[in-house]
Amino acid sequence: MADRDGFIWYDGKLVPWREATTHVLTHSLHYGLAVFEGVRAYNTEIGTAIFRLKEHTDRLFNSAHIYMMKMPYSREELMEAQLEVVRANKLESCYIRPIAFFGSEKMGISTRGASVHVSIAAWPWGAYLGEDGLKRGIRVKTSSYSRHHVNVSMCRAKYSGTYANSILANMEATENGYDEALLLDVDGFVAEGAGENLFVIKDNKIYEPEIASALVGITRASVIEIAAELGYQVVSKRLTRDDIYTADEAFFTGTAAEVTPIRELDGRLIGAGSRGPITEKIQARFFDAVNGRAPEYHRWLTRI
Ligand code: PMP
Repeated sequence: MADRDGFIWYDGKLVPWREATTHVLTHSLHYGLAVFEGVRAYNTEIGTAIFRLKEHTDRLFNSAHIYMMKMPYSREELMEAQLEVVRANKLESCYIRPIAFFGSEKMGISTRGASVHVSIAAWPWGAYLGEDGLKRGIRVKTSSYSRHHVNVSMCRAKYSGTYANSILANMEATENGYDEALLLDVDGFVAEGAGENLFVIKDNKIYEPEIASALVGITRASVIEIAAELGYQVVSKRLTRDDIYTADEAFFTGTAAEVTPIRELDGRLIGAGSRGPITEKIQARFFDAVNGRAPEYHRWLTRI
């Protein structure tokens, strides 16, 4: 990824892609604390636009606040910077990765005395779990690793260290021939995917696991609004893995994963073992929203 043409916004300036580097003694590299976002821009009916820019930027600042990381830029500056990166790289649709991390002034666990740096890169990125996955659904495996306990790491923050847990789970699932992992919390209840929130449908009702150790997803929030528009009230409750085995439909949501149906969990087909009808309706409306085909949701789009 490092050897490309283009520009990365780095500490207030656009720098050539290959020059956006940092020292090996970067604090965040050693201790795993950097806060970041995953954002998408779509080539919409009203021009290239970033989906829910404000919500992603607010979550980035919340993550920094939780870890007492002093952001050297304002929300407005970082929103403008994200737009600038898309423009500078002449991207019509892309994934955007803002990250704030501690610099290399010091070693040792305390972040005191370490500067905070921010970079924003953007590049084209298609369907995270595959185009085929969007249509036919993916195969998921329950992980033998648990999601972080809420008092082990701060689950409201999207920060780099938490993803070692996601990597373990995803590695286990994909090495066993599955597409993605589902993580349970430390009490054994369903939490979320390695990089996605989960929804299940049973008897025409939509459920999601209670958001305790899961990330508060922005795609999730969008899907809850879309479901309401389609006449479904999403119910949050504790879900077990066998609630999913016996569901009629299930799907993951995430900025990268968008709305991806799940056709199988741990070798059990979910419903008919394909994209279910309610999932399909929600997915279609979601893609209408992100692509600017639904004027009601233009409020979620910021044109570049
Ligand atoms: N859970 C985890 C662990 C994630 O990494 C993501 C992706 N950011 C999500 C859920 C979905 O969040 P969002 O819809 O805001 O991308």
